[in-house]
Amino acid sequence: MQTFFTPDQLEDPGLQRANEILRACVHCGMCTATCPTYQVRGDELDSPRGRIYLIKDMLEQGRPADARVTRHLDRCLSCLACTTTCPSGVDYMHLIDHARAHVEQTYRRPPMDRLLRAVLARVIPYPGRFRLALRAARLGRFFKGVMPDARLRAMLDMAPARLPAPSPDDRPQVFAAPTRKARVALMTGCAQKVLDTDINEATIRLLTRLGVEVVVPRGMGCCGALTHHMGRTGEAHASAEANIRAFMAEVLGRGLDAIIINTSGCGTTVKDYGDMFRGSPLAADAAKVSKLARDVTEYLAEIGLPEADMGLRVAYHAACSLQHGQKVKDAPKALLRRVGFEVVEPADPHLCCGSAGTYNLMQPEISAELKARKVATLEAKGPEVIAAGNIGCMVQIGTATALPVVHTVELLDWATGGPKPAKLQRYAKNLNHPSAA
Ligand code: SF4
Ligand code: SF4
Repeated sequence: MQTFFTPDQLEDPGLQRANEILRACVHCGMCTATCPTYQVRGDELDSPRGRIYLIKDMLEQGRPADARVTRHLDRCLSCLACTTTCPSGVDYMHLIDHARAHVEQTYRRPPMDRLLRAVLARVIPYPGRFRLALRAARLGRFFKGVMPDARLRAMLDMAPARLPAPSPDDRPQVFAAPTRKARVALMTGCAQKVLDTDINEATIRLLTRLGVEVVVPRGMGCCGALTHHMGRTGEAHASAEANIRAFMAEVLGRGLDAIIINTSGCGTTVKDYGDMFRGSPLAADAAKVSKLARDVTEYLAEIGLPEADMGLRVAYHAACSLQHGQKVKDAPKALLRRVGFEVVEPADPHLCCGSAGTYNLMQPEISAELKARKVATLEAKGPEVIAAGNIGCMVQIGTATALPVVHTVELLDWATGGPKPAKLQRYAKNLNHPSAA
């Protein structure tokens, strides 16, 4: 694509990079075929190609963002299906990140938008605040009928009926392995450990059983993805910096073989820390942390799992952040098959479930449509359980199906000697397994 930035504009490293990304696009439109928002809305401006044109025009003209551009960029899920499809390797992720920061800096959103976004950015990344907010939302359901905004109603709908108590496993500590083959840090997440404590517990049990010492580092917090995708660069960088320092203290202390992440949305961001901090004094440490970061299934595929014979029919939902963001596609399915699960996939494995961080709260109509489609294609495969590698997808899908929805690692832990996942208790199958009854 031809671009028309002036030499002065190209002095700005951000614009220089945007220019390089834009010039790689040959406007072939192949990405539109796998873009969920284009499929739902059928509007070119809600496709990757349309958004690329909007961004190009806005940046080239040096214009502040306006309501129209913001609307179409806000509708992007950042699912990155377009980057998997694009034959020209267009780095849409960094382009939309740059555009979102530009929107945040130059556009004054309507008051309700500003309020909701500020609340989400200041609540979800902080487990204590998030827990309180979810409790309050349960009470708020009684007033749902009089809520003036669909986004407020969506927030109330997404609040789970019950929350688990905080898990002691999520506190900073070291979990020794009987025979230590490796040492890893576990990123315990922010929202995940409020919504579902089983995932980190299963991850720790499984890794230590396999001879991997697990440390939960002190000083770790939200990965920064939520604010990063809102264009709130300062907040995102502050979160990322705290994590880089926490992980590097372990690297320089007793050493780390990997940083394990079991929330794929966070994994995509941590793997991008090196890029986020390029040219800054923290660049080398950020790059080191990114290099060590592994999705839990990616790491398990590297160290190997014993075989087992589980037998349940599992519909595997590939989180976008895992399959498109991190390009981890086969490992979760291969691991599930290795321990004997029958793995089936929906007819639309590349398509987003509509969760996408805070998307289901901020764009409830498109999100609901995507959720309904995804649940239908998952259920059409007749599974006994649905597995995914991202808490956002689990919550999203779980609100629309009666099937149990678990994290992949919970099934792998169970198959290798851990307890049956609590969400599966009503299934008495798999009688070969001691925990199955
Ligand atoms: S597929 Fe790639 S090159 Fe083609 S229009 Fe989409 S982003 Fe541009
Ligand atoms: S990230 Fe997803 S929603 Fe956004 S343009 Fe690409 S395919 Fe469409």
